[in-house]
Amino acid sequence: MELVFATNNAHKLQEITAMAGNFFTIKSLKDIQCFDEIPETGATLEANALQKARYVHEKFGCNCFADDTGLEIEALDGAPGVYTARFAGEGCSFDDNMNKTLSLMQGKENRKAVFRTVIACIIDEEEYVFEGEVHGVIATEKMGNEGFGYDPIFIPAGYETSFAQMQMSEKNKISHRARACEEFLVFLRGITN
Ligand code: IMP
Repeated sequence: MELVFATNNAHKLQEITAMAGNFFTIKSLKDIQCFDEIPETGATLEANALQKARYVHEKFGCNCFADDTGLEIEALDGAPGVYTARFAGEGCSFDDNMNKTLSLMQGKENRKAVFRTVIACIIDEEEYVFEGEVHGVIATEKMGNEGFGYDPIFIPAGYETSFAQMQMSEKNKISHRARACEEFLVFLRGITN
């Protein structure tokens, strides 16, 4: 089966291609000559993932999927949530986002947070949604240099190290995205067998 992943993020493509093995051919937006800025205006991760998948499906008529990830911090009433990528403002850096988070979390005792990934896919006109999450806490300072995004300030439950202090292979075993991908791939294997 051929599936278009509504992304041009090389890291995500590589991750899911490695997990998918030889079962599926995964194409990127570039592979199908889609250079559009796909709208992402939903109020939830699920709405955003569906919006991106529907856009590609309607315009290109292909089986496809899209993902959206958010960090939800309990003491901040679930923020940044859908605003995770642009928490510190449009065009902000990962450091800007982490600095804003650390400053809002200053003095907070409850540091619980969850990373959540939603994958929406459209196959033969049917829509399906999958989810993966990893619980953890927000560190009091940045720790480590690996990974990306909020990795230096996110310590997964059961660990003392941040995502940015882990090998990529270790993080990929427990991450929100890996778990959502795993659910999705189990489903895909089920319908193609
Ligand atoms: P996206 O929906 O995958 O683009 O993720 C939205 C934002 O969440 C990114 O811009 C990152 O800031 C953050 N993010 C997503 N996944 C991770 C992760 O595995 N570690 C740290 N931050 C992440």
